[in-house]
Amino acid sequence: PASGVRKGAAFDEVAKLPQSGAPGIRFEKVVKRFGGNVVLRELDFTVEPGERVTLIGPSGSGKTTILRLLMTLEKLDEGVIWIGDNTLWHMDKGGKRVPANEKHLHEMRKQVGMVFQQFNLFPNMNVLRNLTEGPVRVLGVSKDEAVERARGLLDLVGLADKENAHPSRLSGGQQQRVAIARALAMQPRVLLLDEVTSALDPELVVGVQDLLRDIARESDLTLLCVTHEMHFARDISDRVLMFDQGQIVEEGPPDQIFGEPTEQRTRDFLQAVL
Ligand code: ADP
Repeated sequence: PASGVRKGAAFDEVAKLPQSGAPGIRFEKVVKRFGGNVVLRELDFTVEPGERVTLIGPSGSGKTTILRLLMTLEKLDEGVIWIGDNTLWHMDKGGKRVPANEKHLHEMRKQVGMVFQQFNLFPNMNVLRNLTEGPVRVLGVSKDEAVERARGLLDLVGLADKENAHPSRLSGGQQQRVAIARALAMQPRVLLLDEVTSALDPELVVGVQDLLRDIARESDLTLLCVTHEMHFARDISDRVLMFDQGQIVEEGPPDQIFGEPTEQRTRDFLQAVL
């Protein structure tokens, strides 16, 4: 395939992605404020295990904040976020909700991988080390095993010949492929994609999107994706959530949201971006 992804059994073997048992995600009455700015207003939604959900909507509607909350890069103000049976909060002895402790957060973070708009590769490490550092330091995988897996993943994303390259010597599209491989190297069960092609030159966009679409289809990862590229949203999702001002305006399968949206705000948004 054009994306360079290996299909079928080879893919499972190399990527060791979950083929079952990925956790779902649930937001329950989640409130997030930045100062006086209420970014998420009692937000409720569920992503089923293995489901692929895309968040669309105007800039500033809170989409990225949702991903950052799941990565525990932000703290929530009210409500509960579930990843499988784990929460970002515990009940204390008095039945009061308190933030989960660091050990618990660490365990949760291990389940979640994220690919960022700006790649965020470690600039002072070569490509191979970008992929082995996390598994060795965080997951306690042996160096040999980490290297073997990293090579498999680089092959999977079409960069087998770049393991010694420095990130700065790679094109944006190649850097993003490395970032995708790095996220997979941590064997996540939930994958978060935040505007992953916005920083790419136009001719590199489709290759990276095809790669991600194939990964999404070949694995059983639970996927949450934020994108401004509506054909990619259509391609990769089982369900699309349309956001405005920190709330869900409308949701449904991509054919419905893009083909026959019911809400005026969705129609206005799609008209502006398509
Ligand atoms: P989207 O991804 O839909 O464009 P974001 O989640 O990035 O929206 O942002 C939602 C709102 O939260 C915006 O008004 C933004 O300015 C604000 N915001 C996001 N991060 C911060 C932050 N670290 N400090 C203050 N305000 C923030």
